[in-house]
Amino acid sequence: MMRKPHILAIPYPAQGHVIPTMELCLCLVKHGCKVTFVNTEFNHNRIMESMSEAENVINQVTVPDGLQEEEDRNDPKKLTEAFFEVVPGKLEALIRKINESDENRVSCVIADENLGWALDLAKKLGLQRVAFWTASAASLAMMLNVPKLVDDGIVGNNGEILRKQSIKLLPRMPTMNSTDLLWNCFSDPGLQRLVFDMAFKNNESVKAAEWIICNSSQVMEYEVFASYPKLIPIGPLLASNGLGKTSGNFWREDTDCLKWLDQQPLNSVIYVAFGSHTIFDIAEFQELALGLELTNRPFLWVVRQGFIEESEIAYPEGFINRTRNRGRLVEWAPQQKVLAHPSLGCFLSHCGWNSTIEGVSNGLPFLCWPYFADQLFNKSYICDVWKIGLGFDRNNNGIIGRREIKNKVEQLFGDENFKARSVDLQAEVLSSVKRGGSSYRNFSSFVNWIKARN
Ligand code: UDP
Repeated sequence: MMRKPHILAIPYPAQGHVIPTMELCLCLVKHGCKVTFVNTEFNHNRIMESMSEAENVINQVTVPDGLQEEEDRNDPKKLTEAFFEVVPGKLEALIRKINESDENRVSCVIADENLGWALDLAKKLGLQRVAFWTASAASLAMMLNVPKLVDDGIVGNNGEILRKQSIKLLPRMPTMNSTDLLWNCFSDPGLQRLVFDMAFKNNESVKAAEWIICNSSQVMEYEVFASYPKLIPIGPLLASNGLGKTSGNFWREDTDCLKWLDQQPLNSVIYVAFGSHTIFDIAEFQELALGLELTNRPFLWVVRQGFIEESEIAYPEGFINRTRNRGRLVEWAPQQKVLAHPSLGCFLSHCGWNSTIEGVSNGLPFLCWPYFADQLFNKSYICDVWKIGLGFDRNNNGIIGRREIKNKVEQLFGDENFKARSVDLQAEVLSSVKRGGSSYRNFSSFVNWIKARN
C-alpha cells in the first residue's frame, strides 16, 4: 500500500488563524493525508482546556512561543517578535527529528503566509512548500502590491504613508484608503514597522511556495483570482467540509445558546460577535447594548473576557433585566453552528474574514462594524460588492450611537433584497465546494499534487 503523505502544518498563533488551519488539516485527513499540527504550547493548552481539541486524527505537537508564562499574548508585537525568534529553530529540529524515520517522513510543509521563514525552511530541507492565507484574497493582493506602492511614492521606505489617497487595485475591487493599509492600523510605530517589514519579507518567501491556497471562493472574489492566478481558492473551509466539528477554539463554547436559539422565531435573531481580539471602549459598548435593546428583537451577543478596555464589564443600568426575555449573552459561541441556525436573522459582525466567510456560507445578511485592518476592506465587499449588508455611520463624537444601530437593523430587516442576495451568494459559494465546483476541483488537484510527490 502507498504510504500516506505526511504534512506538517503551522498557523500564525492567533485564533483567526488556528481555526481555519485546523479545518484545512481536517479536510486533508479526510482525503487520506497524515497531518502533524504545530501549535504553541500556550495555545495548545488553551484549546485542551476549552475541550475543543481536534479528534486525534491529527497529530498535535507544540513549540514554545518564546514568551514567559505571565507575558501578554494579546500584544501582537511582543508575540510576533518572540515567536519569530524562537520557533524557526524549534521547527527545524522538529522536522529533522521526524524525518529520521523514513516511514514517517514529512514531505510537505503548509505554513501560514505570514510565516515566510517557515517556507524558507521547507525549501532548505527540500520539502514541498505551501502557503496558506487565512484572510481574503483581496487583502493578500494588497500586500503583494506593497512594493509598488513604495515605488509609486504612496508609501515610504519605512512604511510611512506619504500620500493619503484611495487605492484601487482592480477595476471592480473596492477602493482602500492608503491610511487603512494593514500596518498603519496599529498605533505603535515599532509594530507598524514590524508588520511592514514582514510584508516585504513574506512577499519574497512566498515566491518559493509551490501553492498559495486561500480560504475563499472564486465566486466571492472572482476578479482577484482571475488577476492573480497563483492564488488558489479552496474555501470556504468550514467544519462541515471536514470532519464536522470546529476545532481549535481558545475559549469554551457555550452550547446552551443553541437551545435558546431553538425557542426563537425563524429568521429573527441578531447574532452579535466581534471575533477574538476586538476591544471596545465603554461608551461604544454601552451604546451597542442600548441599541440592541431599542431594536426590540431577540439577540445573541458574544461578550468575550477582555471585550472592553475596563476590567469589569459594565452593562447600562437595568439592561440585563430589561432584555432578559429576548437577549442572550455568552462568552464564546459555537459560531458556525449559531450561524447555521434557522432562527438567525442577521449577523452584526466586525467582519473578520472567517466570520465573513462563515456568515456568507449560511446566507446571512450583515450589519458591519469593522474595527481595523482588513475588516474595513471586507466590509466594502459585503456592502458594496455583494450588497448583502449595511455599515453603521459614526456620529459627531465618532461613536456608533444606539439610534443608528436601531435604524440600520430596521433597514436591513425591512428590505428583503438583502436576504435574497445573501441566499443567492450562499448557493453559489456552497456549490463551489461541492463535487465539480471550483474550490472542490482546486482542492482535489492540490491533494493529488501532494500525493504525487510524496
Ligand atoms: N468564533 C467562535 N465563537 C465566537 C466568536 C468567534 O467560534 O463566539 C470564531 C469564528 O467562528 C471565527 C473565529 O472565531 O472562525 C474568528 O475569526 P475572524 O477572522 O472572524 O476574526 P478575528 O478573531 O481573527 O478578528
